[in-house]
Amino acid sequence: MAKRDYYEILGVDKNATPEEIKKAYRKIAIKYHPDKNPNDPSTEDKFKEAAEAYEVLSNTEKKQKYDRFGHQGVNGGGYSGGNMNMEDIFSQFGDIFGGGGGSPFDSFFGGGGGRGQGGRSRKGSNLRIKLKLTLDEIANGVEKKIKVKRYVSCGTCGGNGAKNSSSLQSCTTCGGSGQMRKVVNTMLGQMVSTTTCPTCEGEGKIVIDKCDVCHGEGRVMQEEVIPIKIPAGVADGMQLSMSGKGNVPLRGGVPGDLLIVIEEEEHELLKRDGNNVVYDLYVNFVDAALGTSLEVPTIDGKVKIKLEPGTQSGKILRLRGKGIKDINGYGKGDQLIHVNIWTPKQLSREEKETLEGLKESPNFIPSPGKNEKGFFEKMKEFF
Ligand SMILES: [Zn+2]
Ligand SMILES: [Zn+2]
Repeated sequence: MAKRDYYEILGVDKNATPEEIKKAYRKIAIKYHPDKNPNDPSTEDKFKEAAEAYEVLSNTEKKQKYDRFGHQGVNGGGYSGGNMNMEDIFSQFGDIFGGGGGSPFDSFFGGGGGRGQGGRSRKGSNLRIKLKLTLDEIANGVEKKIKVKRYVSCGTCGGNGAKNSSSLQSCTTCGGSGQMRKVVNTMLGQMVSTTTCPTCEGEGKIVIDKCDVCHGEGRVMQEEVIPIKIPAGVADGMQLSMSGKGNVPLRGGVPGDLLIVIEEEEHELLKRDGNNVVYDLYVNFVDAALGTSLEVPTIDGKVKIKLEPGTQSGKILRLRGKGIKDINGYGKGDQLIHVNIWTPKQLSREEKETLEGLKESPNFIPSPGKNEKGFFEKMKEFF
């Protein structure tokens, strides 16, 4: 995307005074501050965009270059436009929010708002397993019980990793908050930046005596049987996820997810094509010529079908609704029976004589009519 004009971003014209530029930026920064718009990530981009514009236009040298050469001028001048991080941006604020207290950023600077606090919403790792399913199971859906080894909360210590209640102490480095606040004096008063406490790594607590069972980890490896409902119509490579069935993190937190990757076992006789199932039927020439009834395998067991007299090789018969249920609930696929006329590979002398006797018979001369669709017509019709 092309970069927007810096003046346009801040809504000022080229002759704006430094004071006007500062004022314009302040307004935008307040409006799009990420703390004020926690649910709208697009505001962060606008916030950064404005910060970048201000970074250039508030600097006399950069502003001159930008006025003469545009974005090219300032980016070529060693300024990595667009790559400002939040810390860079906040460092500008001492500059623009002069005049002490009462700034709209009090919640951020004073109260240590909602951003950048490490370690609090800790989530465990995901588990990934492969699950082999037969075509029958896929066609109708199946309930499986799967065995997984996962970290669960230690029952002895309740997940905190401590031997008893007195062996769990509040971290003295951070005072139990898990965070370190760095206070910087600026023109607008005190600015506070928060980082994760290095002593307790954000946990706020220190284990003095470790739990004997989990050795202070607060979690133990356990084999668990998890029932899972596989919906009909899944396909090879698809990934299902069960939230909360992954590993519990060290010393408490939200467990990760269990990811189940579907593997489709090949069926002996039936092939899958989307939601359809394809069966290759081989019949002998006599049955094809005289017509017959025979049984074919389907996902739901054997089904009797009739072959009309004069069935041609390559004909496709359709068993409606004998395919796979659509995963999104859009009905069911069909079973397609692909008719192959079997040509004998070896013949006895008698068989040869019989066939040679028929060879010149007028009905044996190929005469495909309009009803005999070619390969491409069939493809069009069925796939
Ligand atoms: Zn324990
Ligand atoms: Zn700490």
